Amino acid sequence: MQNKIFFLFLFTSFSLLSFNTSYAQCNPNDEVESWLSWGKSWENFAIDYFPISVEREMEVGDSLYLEMMKEQKLLKTHPKKQLLERVMNRLTPHVNRKGIVYRTHILDDDEMVNAFAIAGGHLFITSKMLNWVDSEDELAFVLSHEIAHVDDKHSVRKVQKILLGNQYFGEYGVMAANIELVLSQPLGQIDEYTADRLGAALMVKAGYDPRKGLKFFEKMAHFEEYNEIEKMMRSHPYSTERHNCLSDYMTNELNR
Ligand SMILES: [Zn+2]
Repeated sequence: MQNKIFFLFLFTSFSLLSFNTSYAQCNPNDEVESWLSWGKSWENFAIDYFPISVEREMEVGDSLYLEMMKEQKLLKTHPKKQLLERVMNRLTPHVNRKGIVYRTHILDDDEMVNAFAIAGGHLFITSKMLNWVDSEDELAFVLSHEIAHVDDKHSVRKVQKILLGNQYFGEYGVMAANIELVLSQPLGQIDEYTADRLGAALMVKAGYDPRKGLKFFEKMAHFEEYNEIEKMMRSHPYSTERHNCLSDYMTNELNR
């Protein structure tokens, strides 16, 4: 019962928090940002209260992967497949959470510049994105960002929210978790900024140049038009903002 109350509190508090604050920024001295960071830490703490093993995470990831494969088409070959594998082999020895086996999949999609990761270490990259990156370092930026989402548990916490919702509230819990995921876009944006920073740090450990990440955002920014309302709804912050945050982080923390 105690767990039930705790979980209901989790859902409601963060939904309200997301409404009260409009969007995430990367400046920790900003008032909005410090509230959001507090909310995010609380959310993470609450989810981690019900831990999930690496083995279970990989099982869940494999089921999600199989589910996705019903609708997605993968490419077995690609001119940059070897490059992709080389970058992964350089990055993955430097992750924090051991035991996760990273697997990359090339989605047959020549329209969307996109990459994403799911729990358990499945990384997806569209053929358009693979063609679009200009250098090995730029590809390393994309992949290290996705690895960071897995390594820092962003991906698995999303799954845990739904699993916990189902466990404690049945169908209502699943619905609440889905609604909460939609409502918590600013918290999602915090994960994006975090993955940018952790990804850049991972690149340095693997001997890549994280400044190529800035070039990546400059290219991406050409496709985006800034809109204050849309900003609240976006799962990802605008590329210009990510560029500026990453640039600050690299200058101040990574000395680059
Ligand atoms: Zn991301």
